[in-house]
Amino acid sequence: MPHRRASVARQTPGSPEPPAGTAQGPKGGRLSVLLPLPLEGPYDYAPTPEPTLVPGDLVRVPLGSRELIGVVWDPGDSHRGVAAARLRPAGERVDLPGLPEVERRFIDWVAGYTLAPPGAVLRMALSVPAAFEPPKPVTAYRLAGDSDDTKHLRLTPARKRVLAVAGEGPARPAADLARAAGVGTSVIKGLVAAGALEAVTLPPPAVFRPPEWQRPGPALSTDQAAAAAELRNKVVEGGFSVTLLDGVTGSGKTEVYFEAVAAALAAGRQALVLLPEIALSAQWLERFQRRFEARPAVWHSDLTAVQRRRTWRAVAEGEARIVVGARSALFLPYQELGLIVVDEEHDTSFKQEDGVIYHARDMAVVRSRLGEIPIVLVSATPSLETTTNVKAGRYGRLHLPERHGSAVLPRVELVDLRRDPPPRLEGTGQGWLSTALRRALAETFEADEQALLFLNRRGFAPLTLCRACGHRLQCPNCTAWLVEHRLAGRLECHHCGHRKMPPGHCPECHAEGSLAACGPGVERLAEEVRELFQDQRTAIMSSDSITGPAAAEALVRAVHQREIDLLIGTQIVAKGHHFPWLTLVGVVDGDLGLSGGDLRAAERTYQLLHQVAGRAGRAERPGRVLIQTYEPEHPVMQALASNAPDARDRFLETEAEVRRRAAMPPFARLAAVILSDPDQRRVDEACRRLARARPRRDGVEILGPAAAPLAVLRGRHRRRFLLRTRRDIAPQAVLRQWLAAVELPRQVRLQIDVDPYSFL
Ligand code: ADP
Ligand code: ZN
Repeated sequence: MPHRRASVARQTPGSPEPPAGTAQGPKGGRLSVLLPLPLEGPYDYAPTPEPTLVPGDLVRVPLGSRELIGVVWDPGDSHRGVAAARLRPAGERVDLPGLPEVERRFIDWVAGYTLAPPGAVLRMALSVPAAFEPPKPVTAYRLAGDSDDTKHLRLTPARKRVLAVAGEGPARPAADLARAAGVGTSVIKGLVAAGALEAVTLPPPAVFRPPEWQRPGPALSTDQAAAAAELRNKVVEGGFSVTLLDGVTGSGKTEVYFEAVAAALAAGRQALVLLPEIALSAQWLERFQRRFEARPAVWHSDLTAVQRRRTWRAVAEGEARIVVGARSALFLPYQELGLIVVDEEHDTSFKQEDGVIYHARDMAVVRSRLGEIPIVLVSATPSLETTTNVKAGRYGRLHLPERHGSAVLPRVELVDLRRDPPPRLEGTGQGWLSTALRRALAETFEADEQALLFLNRRGFAPLTLCRACGHRLQCPNCTAWLVEHRLAGRLECHHCGHRKMPPGHCPECHAEGSLAACGPGVERLAEEVRELFQDQRTAIMSSDSITGPAAAEALVRAVHQREIDLLIGTQIVAKGHHFPWLTLVGVVDGDLGLSGGDLRAAERTYQLLHQVAGRAGRAERPGRVLIQTYEPEHPVMQALASNAPDARDRFLETEAEVRRRAAMPPFARLAAVILSDPDQRRVDEACRRLARARPRRDGVEILGPAAAPLAVLRGRHRRRFLLRTRRDIAPQAVLRQWLAAVELPRQVRLQIDVDPYSFL
């Protein structure tokens, strides 16, 4: 198989069996099993006599000296066979519902699209091996039947309480019983030993209660009701459809798609809501709970091992009816998925950047098509990809033009930093807040309202510079500056995680005390605010201060209860939060996202700043937004500050025109090929070979090789090619052919990123 040579699957774990290609199926006396490993395809095994395994079944199989759990795959054409007599027998079937056909086709589809080995995609679906073991039954205790022993029982008050409690209800686990009786578990043990309590085995309890979809939601406005009715119809009719739910921030999009979720539940189907930063979205969970009187199954990387195991199993067994999760929730083993919602569909965190590189929104659309179910894409700032599809008539659109209730959209003003440069401070030196923004903050605090300062930069300062010799502190492993985190007392590389103590003198010229922090991060901003507004209570919200769901919830609650006057945050504050008393949003550096070679820089900056602005004035009190910028004429700034109702759409049209003229997505297709190696000469040689073999045909163009902007990452030198094809040419076939023609040294790592969003 020539494709194997340069493919990502090259570094496969050593295995004694040769890959068998795809099998002829049980009929041909072989069983095709896909393993959750980056192999090229399914392996063949000799089928078990009884029971007959069918495609989708989870099965234990040997691989070398190991035992693994794989999935019986669909029989296909066999290219090369291992003699039937040499096949190793498959083992036992795992007692769980199998992967339905649609899930198997989805896995193959994603593999084909991303050029990842199918087993690597399967591994995302079987990410919790512990879930294959059945949960342990629960031992519970109840009053023993008439036993002579108990007559001689010494009855302490504690024992009496336990017996009274045990006499009332059903059998309960020891810990529950002890808690209900207010005693220690040793009392229970004593009563068991004395024969007064007996043990019974109960099936493990259900983890998720069924949501109460019959309960009515809130009374909807006319627009909301119309949108909800349309979505409900789609769910009831079934079949594939994509609908953009496009509504301004605070228009009640969540309430509207909850109606679609209710319809899916009513139809006996499972529903999936993809939500960026779900780990930090306690507010969303609260709202869900209020609406459906049950917890949804939550899926993200911060779950405990127990939560992962239970949730995976509950989805597979159909007990979990609704899942809300980050992108990986798309690969859970749904049996009856009937609806997908992608909230904040424009959010770039839906793109997975390592392992299998995929975009969860796009793959969710594919999953809907394969499953013939509706999907709803939700945003106040939809992506250009999505709006282009709406325009072309491929996607439907529902529009909510107004905020719910009496709330109105905030007024956005630009602060021209060339005319209103931030004044210096007495204590901390250079400042970052203009007079206009300072005044607005003062007025907000005066009115007893809350403010948010947005700066999308973690830490204290993004760069440390020697004033004597100009040396800049750089990461030893990456082409990146070290970021000072003053609260943690260290320097940190945001790309590889390298950390060190700040040096006392310049490592280059050895000058003492010459190192100076350059530029602001949220920590530095907090310092400035403390100097300007001593009496206000401030909190930082960034991934450094918010390390998990509990911390996020505590902070969100504190803001809600108005224990905090000023929130200083990075992009994690932009999403979803609803703070009724927050009336002022100040964007400290509006231009931050605009530079750099990212083709979506303008679009993203617009989306991010619009979302942040949307945090202001979401309830009775009107909101106000100040954006500090050195480029107030920039189309992004103009669009943000415009009051015209079609400002966003006009901006998107201009942006679309720019992309069309530059032949960039969504008007062309891109795929990045990234080669890396600790040895610079070797990676450059590999690039030369690939460059010589570059495909030459109409509608296909190859840019590069070029050193990646992050030329060195984790000690590896990185080079990039960019493949661009006309929209009607699939880049996958071109890539396969190209890469198959070149043999690369083993050490050179090759990554393929179809539809790249990051160009670093
Ligand atoms: P979006 O997702 O569009 O930003 P939300 O769904 O978060 O908007 O709604 C904003 C606020 O308005 C929330 O607190 C929500 O509960 C409330 N809300 C929206 N629609 C209604 C409604 N029909 N009845 C009561 N409250 C509503
Ligand atoms: Zn680094």
